[in-house]
Amino acid sequence: MKERLRLTLLATILACVALPISSEEIPMQNASTPAMDTASPSWMNNSTARLQDELLAKYGAPQKERIERGLHQVTEFWRADDGDAAAFAEFVRTNFAGNQATLDTMFNRFQSLLEQLDGHMHEINRTFNQQSDLDLGPVLPFDEVFAGYDPSAHVLDDFFNNKLAFTVLLNFPLTTLDERLKNGPNWTRRQWAETRLAQRFDKRIPADVNLGIAQAAAASGQYISQYNIWMYHLTDAEGQRLFPPKMRLLSHWNLRDEIKANYSDGPNGLPKQRMIQQVMERIVTQTIPQVVINNPTVDWNPFTNEVKPAAAKDSDAASDNRPITNAPEPDVRYAVLLKDFNASRKADPYSPTAPSLIDRRFQEDREIPEARVKAMLEQVLSSPLVAQTAKLIQVRLGRPLEPFDIWYNGFRPGSQYTEAQLDEIVAKKYPTAEAYQKDIPNLLIKLGFSPDRAQYVANNIIVDPARGSGHAMGSQMRSEKAHLRTRVEKTGMNYKGFNIAVHEMGHNVEQTFSLNDNDYTLLQGVPNTAFTEALAFVFQGHDLELLGLPAPDAKSQAEKTLNDFWSTYEIAGVALVDMGVWHWMYDHPQATPKQLDQATVQISKDIWNRYYAPIFHKNDVVLLGIYSHMIDSFLYLPDYPIGHMIAFQIEEQMKKSGAIGPEFERMAKMGRITPDLWMERATGRPVGPEALLEATKQALAAAH
Ligand SMILES: [Zn+2]
Repeated sequence: MKERLRLTLLATILACVALPISSEEIPMQNASTPAMDTASPSWMNNSTARLQDELLAKYGAPQKERIERGLHQVTEFWRADDGDAAAFAEFVRTNFAGNQATLDTMFNRFQSLLEQLDGHMHEINRTFNQQSDLDLGPVLPFDEVFAGYDPSAHVLDDFFNNKLAFTVLLNFPLTTLDERLKNGPNWTRRQWAETRLAQRFDKRIPADVNLGIAQAAAASGQYISQYNIWMYHLTDAEGQRLFPPKMRLLSHWNLRDEIKANYSDGPNGLPKQRMIQQVMERIVTQTIPQVVINNPTVDWNPFTNEVKPAAAKDSDAASDNRPITNAPEPDVRYAVLLKDFNASRKADPYSPTAPSLIDRRFQEDREIPEARVKAMLEQVLSSPLVAQTAKLIQVRLGRPLEPFDIWYNGFRPGSQYTEAQLDEIVAKKYPTAEAYQKDIPNLLIKLGFSPDRAQYVANNIIVDPARGSGHAMGSQMRSEKAHLRTRVEKTGMNYKGFNIAVHEMGHNVEQTFSLNDNDYTLLQGVPNTAFTEALAFVFQGHDLELLGLPAPDAKSQAEKTLNDFWSTYEIAGVALVDMGVWHWMYDHPQATPKQLDQATVQISKDIWNRYYAPIFHKNDVVLLGIYSHMIDSFLYLPDYPIGHMIAFQIEEQMKKSGAIGPEFERMAKMGRITPDLWMERATGRPVGPEALLEATKQALAAAH
């Protein structure tokens, strides 16, 4: 599933979409942009001391702490060109809310007006991206410019200039992650909302910097979204075509999913899986011939790397004038990633409390320290349960494991159906996107929502035909609806598309509850993107039941657990590669695309050799580097394994409670507090892999 996390200046827009853009965290700075003048004006200390006394005399001792804190926060961001000592004093006198009634009014009004701002900015962004996101015909050059334009890029700057940001900083508390972890459990909902309000203004990034980010992100998204392989044109040593005509697979999602699908294709499956692995490795190492990318007019043997004019035709595409050679893609994959990196790190000077994208991702977005995330991933990767599960897979496959078996999908309650049978069922049920739209209330009722709640949520979801594999885009104000983007082929929706649509629908339902049914819109959303993924996985895990196929029995549930565990094992390594590559880029800021290529290949091999080679008995495999998110999603991948762990914790809670619907709603309404606090309130335990590991142990016993 393709993801986009777009954080507009004042908003955390959680959406399972295309790529993460955070103007507060991935800014780009032009070389000509002067460095921020962070030194306080010389009059500041005296002025602050006088104002402190003055406000204390006026509002009394109970306000002492707020006065001191507010003044300190304002001085941290006030620059000489914001005004002189007199302007500073005037601002403070006018805008300090010295009693509870004034503070309440201020809080409520900021909350409601910021919802309008976020909501409409998001609405513009969604509309401007419509042509590139939806299946609406060719994307023209100017469409890409619209998609790259972020109208909210100037907002934070404007809010510092008009001093609304300072009003917030004067009256509401900035906090560190440590403080939120330590004190958050005792805060009221209102205190949490105030905390989130203040956090919107904890950085002061120039507007042109933010605009640059959106452009870099759009460019990498565009690169990824056009990266198709025409499978009919892959040939083996005998010149045979293993895949059907017209099959066009987007890297990496569709390629990976085709490997999964081929497990149910009998003896034909294995050579296809090996071939796809070969294609993936050529993409990672950039030995893929440039001319075969998204091109049905050439045939390619990915083993010998030989390229020829297509000897068979399965599309109307005319041959372009590119010379037919096996000249490799010239490290474009890594050039694109480097541009993301360079855009990101230029924000660092404006983010003193989290001075790298890595810090911002873990301490601010995930709100789980990186070391803790790494430890959780390693706990899964080095678990003895991996070898036990691998042994079981090997027995079932009747052959030694091969590297692509990291995508083994035989642990499925639905494995009694072939992909083709499922495709047929789905295509019949959902010939169009509208058919899916109409069925949403029924699907939600099947998931345990009452008819009323199901209809209520369904009324908040609009289904659109996606250009890519599908995504969900929530809204940012209560008067707007969430969008579910799903890919529907001309022959109707296929099973893959349905499976993804159910996942995206989970996002939409979470988005609806966490915005519309939350007591504070400032707390809309979930603690971090791993949670929205986890909640979406809960839906996705029930896709067969939604098709009217039998609910899994105890044995099937054990299968599902093993599938979750094996997927977590796979994606945990992918996440460590993503983390390793970002650390490498920060350690080598002058690197060329070629050097980044080599480093990524090496990091992929290292992680493989440590955690996978002992299981697969093969060294130096680069498959962990294939994920497209690594190129266009700015260190997003660690959210997936955490998501699996969290999903498992949540799923267990759903089982305990008996019905998904009401529990899902109770959880989603908690909004954006810290991950551990959310999880403790949802399930009684903090975030961690223990629940998954314990259940895997039991599942292994049951599966034999
Ligand atoms: Zn998702």
